Amino acid sequence: MSNAENPYGSDLVEAADVGMLFDMKRFALHDGPGIRTTVFMKGCPLRCTWCHNPESQGAAPEIMLSAAQCTGCGTCIKACPQAAIRATQSATSTDRQRCIGCGQCAIVCPTSARTLVGYRKSIPDLVAQVKRDVVFFDESGGGVTLSGGEPLFQPSFAAAFLAQCQARRIHTALDTCGFAPWEDLKRVAQHADLILYDLKILSDSRHRRWTGHSNALILDNLTRLDALGKPVWIRIPFILEMHDDPDELSRLGAFIANLNCVEAVHLLPYHRTGEAKRQQLERSGTPKLDVPDERAVAAAGERLTRAAGQAVVIGG
Ligand code: SF4
Ligand code: SF4
Repeated sequence: MSNAENPYGSDLVEAADVGMLFDMKRFALHDGPGIRTTVFMKGCPLRCTWCHNPESQGAAPEIMLSAAQCTGCGTCIKACPQAAIRATQSATSTDRQRCIGCGQCAIVCPTSARTLVGYRKSIPDLVAQVKRDVVFFDESGGGVTLSGGEPLFQPSFAAAFLAQCQARRIHTALDTCGFAPWEDLKRVAQHADLILYDLKILSDSRHRRWTGHSNALILDNLTRLDALGKPVWIRIPFILEMHDDPDELSRLGAFIANLNCVEAVHLLPYHRTGEAKRQQLERSGTPKLDVPDERAVAAAGERLTRAAGQAVVIGG
């Protein structure tokens, strides 16, 4: 496949037996049915302005710096093989162009002000970790959710891991933004019992503005999933600034109403957890977004419910 056809371009990460993760959450209650273990994979092709996990976006390991914990001792500056760290008035800063994500600064930092996000994990190790909670999955109707970042950034690993879980009769869910070559989505989805599919907005110009990419592929992939008959839960981030035209939610609901595969629709109101993380990644220039109040969320939920023809769940 050429880069012109591949939405990931040269950032595509492809490995079947070892994946790049950034977190795991046991006893998760909001990533599918029952009690679940959610595995967060690193790397995402979209750049959503509101992203709650900005540390998931880059495909490679990266440093997070908690300025409040930094005493300015300078130990990291001496340890960095790339000369990527410099002292500032109150702490240190990292030259992200020079940094190779080796993690030396995090190892030597005496106050844990620096942490490395992103680590490699083999499928046997990951399956062994997940298997510890099978008793909770069985009792609650839960299982494993592969999330991110975007799991389809590492399609071979994602497909192989979910297949291993299914072989052990563990319920599997794939949480995806849908921005991936159809062949990758189809390959991974065949090992998923449930798809959690993120939909942002139908307006292509707004989608480009708020995520950096067109939504054409995402909508097309969802239509194809519908034809496959895969059960899908739609997840819609509610962003006041992006959804400032209420008709956008109605149009989104009408699109959902035409699909046969949708078992549930969740509206996820914006919250601010991503802001502190963006600071720790030393990223600037991201606009501050408003957190919707209860009234705005309820009104959006009602509008979406009417248009989609099914009760919309707030949160989850
Ligand atoms: S080693 Fe840690 S505490 Fe010392 S300057 Fe570096 S980040 Fe700050
Ligand atoms: S991760 Fe490695 S290259 Fe990057 S700042 Fe730390 S020590 Fe330097």
